Amino acid sequence: SFLVIILSIIGLGTIFIFRPALNYIRKAIRGIKETEELRIKEKNDFENILNVNIDMLCVSTSAGYFSKINNQFEEILGYKLNELEGLNFLNLVHEEDYNSTIKAMEDINDRKEVIGFTNRYRCKDGSYKYIEWRSKLMGDNVYSSARDVTSNKLQEAELTLNAMMDKLTNLYNRHYLYQVVGNYMEYADRYEVPLSVLILDLDFFKRVNDTWGHPIGDEILKMTAKMMKEAIRESDILVRFGGEEFLVLMPQTSIEGAIVVAEKIRMAIEEANHPITGKITASLGAAERMKMESFRHLYYRVDKALYEAKETGRNRVVASDKGKELEVGVLLIEWKKEWESTNEIIDNQHRKIIVMANQVINLYLEATSKKEIENQLNKLLELIAEHFKTEEYILKEINYPGYAHHEELHHKLLAKSLKVKELVHSTEVTPSAFYSFIMDDVIAGHIEDEDTKFFFYFRKE
Ligand code: GH3
Ligand code: MG
Ligand code: MG
Repeated sequence: SFLVIILSIIGLGTIFIFRPALNYIRKAIRGIKETEELRIKEKNDFENILNVNIDMLCVSTSAGYFSKINNQFEEILGYKLNELEGLNFLNLVHEEDYNSTIKAMEDINDRKEVIGFTNRYRCKDGSYKYIEWRSKLMGDNVYSSARDVTSNKLQEAELTLNAMMDKLTNLYNRHYLYQVVGNYMEYADRYEVPLSVLILDLDFFKRVNDTWGHPIGDEILKMTAKMMKEAIRESDILVRFGGEEFLVLMPQTSIEGAIVVAEKIRMAIEEANHPITGKITASLGAAERMKMESFRHLYYRVDKALYEAKETGRNRVVASDKGKELEVGVLLIEWKKEWESTNEIIDNQHRKIIVMANQVINLYLEATSKKEIENQLNKLLELIAEHFKTEEYILKEINYPGYAHHEELHHKLLAKSLKVKELVHSTEVTPSAFYSFIMDDVIAGHIEDEDTKFFFYFRKE
């Protein structure tokens, strides 16, 4: 019985000692459970928030592999997360947007926040959607929100196309020409194939309007457009350049070929008998582009040929004499008010370049020795190179979004200038064609088309 008493004491002791400990352990377990429940609840809350978000959201590794997407992402592109696993972000990007997307991914990895970047993304059904991204690297992951902007883009494209069409004749207008002519010229230079231009202006067209009224004049314009279209090739670009002036850009066509087509058009118009106005005629100018010649200069030549056709009796074709040296004087550039960026450094450099470029052209006009012209030209190219560097530095400082593109253009222009300088030296390119390239493409064209894009960023301040 003594033993029983001892055991009871130990038993009770155990209970009294271990009860609180046991309770404590129980509580702790409950606590862990509760925290876990809370955590799951919070996780659900968070996922729910992600999934009701109106934007597409995704998390990916810094190398571009998906690890999480929300419902909206699945719905818009049509993929489930498991279909994207192991797939790189780039695999779904339209190939034309590849380079810009890589560039954006590099920016993200450089810890820059990418905002407003748009590319085309392939949906599960094979179609593409325009997606606008906002992405940021946080820790090892890239967090992105995105929007389907396809309908805006299509609307924009339609507006752009509308702005480049002529309503009356249904031909392209001059805005379209300016948009594409650079590519045609670059192609011609690179592959050493000819490129020609025709312009046509109706003869005594004012009389048509004055005698039969504007609507009949419009009829004639439509007829002319139709006849020209029939005479040219599929690959030729026909534009209504101005009121009653038409232009044909003819890739891979020499001046001889251009004259043949011009004659064909001239005869077709002469032979067509309009029921009201009777016979109508047209005069045409033709010119083959010289290597490196700017569009401005080419147009100047072809317009001169047209003027000559008018002066020498109309209803004829005149070709610009290709053998003759160009009139370099037309290349002189005057400073334009729109070229002011309000950044003093950039404006001063632009001005200095233009002054110096004009000096080179003047030396040329004064028939100074070739050596001196080349010397001055070298100095000009150095000045341009130095200016590009300064400009790039300033653009980087202000975080200009088009920086990469702009820097690339600078590189291209410089590389091309140097290459052409060699060609001039080996007399493969006429110096005047080269000057037209420097004046119009490197200086005026670049300031006008590209630099003016960043002026806004200075003016904002
Ligand atoms: P030239 O032989 O020297 O070319 O004489 P022209 O009378 O044709 O003279 P010019 O080329 O200077 O005149 C162009 C005329 O074309 C003036 C303008 O009224 C007319 N015109 C320009 N655009 C349109 C248009 O869209 N519709 C109509 N009906 N006429 C137009
Ligand atoms: Mg005219
Ligand atoms: Mg006319």
